Amino acid sequence: TSTAPVTLIGLGPMGQAMGRALLKAGHPLTVWNRTREKAAPLVEQGAVLADTPADAVAANELVLLSLTDYDVMYRLLGDLDAELRGRTLVNLSSDTPARARAGASWARERGAAYVTGGVMTPPPGIGDPSMSTFYSGDKEAFEAVRPVLETLTAADFRGTDPGLAQVYYQVVMNLFWTSMTSFVHSVALARAEGIAVGTIVPYLVESNDMADFYRGLGEEITAGEFPGELERLSMDAASADHVLHTARDAGVDDTLPAAVMSILQRGLDAGYHDRSFSILATLMDAGDR
Ligand code: NDP
Repeated sequence: TSTAPVTLIGLGPMGQAMGRALLKAGHPLTVWNRTREKAAPLVEQGAVLADTPADAVAANELVLLSLTDYDVMYRLLGDLDAELRGRTLVNLSSDTPARARAGASWARERGAAYVTGGVMTPPPGIGDPSMSTFYSGDKEAFEAVRPVLETLTAADFRGTDPGLAQVYYQVVMNLFWTSMTSFVHSVALARAEGIAVGTIVPYLVESNDMADFYRGLGEEITAGEFPGELERLSMDAASADHVLHTARDAGVDDTLPAAVMSILQRGLDAGYHDRSFSILATLMDAGDR
């Protein structure tokens, strides 16, 4: 499979980067994209532009999808049947674990092997083996095409449940999006108080190395022990409340600090004043609200 031919459907920023990496590694490449002009740079480098999604699928046994979500996959491939038989579909589009599992059933019913992927880098990291992608689903099919997938990023196979790659991906993205949102909110708060973006950013970078916090929290949650020795929930809540009121006083949107405060308040309401922040992990069932 080291120079196996590949079909790639979807040439957004991610698909284009994947196409470049596959061509660079010597894979004959067939592509299809709704907006056909986006294929031009890849065609210039030797890719073949298929006329229809059906033609693209028919061209090669291995079919990679890089689409906005699963709805787009059904829109493009939903009417195909015979073309899908014997194919290996590797869907690198992100969506919910439930939709990934349904997609796997849909593919299996049509005789296609199915692997899901959650790509853990923006397009510039494609082709870089220090970047990684979560995969799950059909293990045999995955192992057969692993060398091709490893031209994109390192490949981290998490298990045979086709939803699993998206579970890992969405858990990491949950942390990512809250951090990103917190960043723009913090910058807005600084600006409202007259501090320039360029002045505050280095401080935010400096204070946001969370690795040791995550490890410590993880250990407490694993042990089920929330000792409250170095930090207590009553102090945490007072501190979060100061953040909330600082935002309100500055006239900055308070959605985010209010949400943080409401979760901490749940811990206080449960009587956990003297316990560590990590005990909030025990209050995360939807039913706790
Ligand atoms: P885009 O949404 O920009 O593009 C994906 C592709 O979907 C394009 O080829 C687009 O076609 C196609 N598409 C969207 N709607 C339709 C439709 N109705 N009919 C036909 N085709 C459609 O996504 P990216 O390329 O940025 O990303 C692809 C996947 O990778 C996504 O699932 C994303 O979550 C994931 N990902 C992206 C990262 C990033 O930084 N970009 C990082 C990690 C994962 P057209 O060109 O015609 O619009």
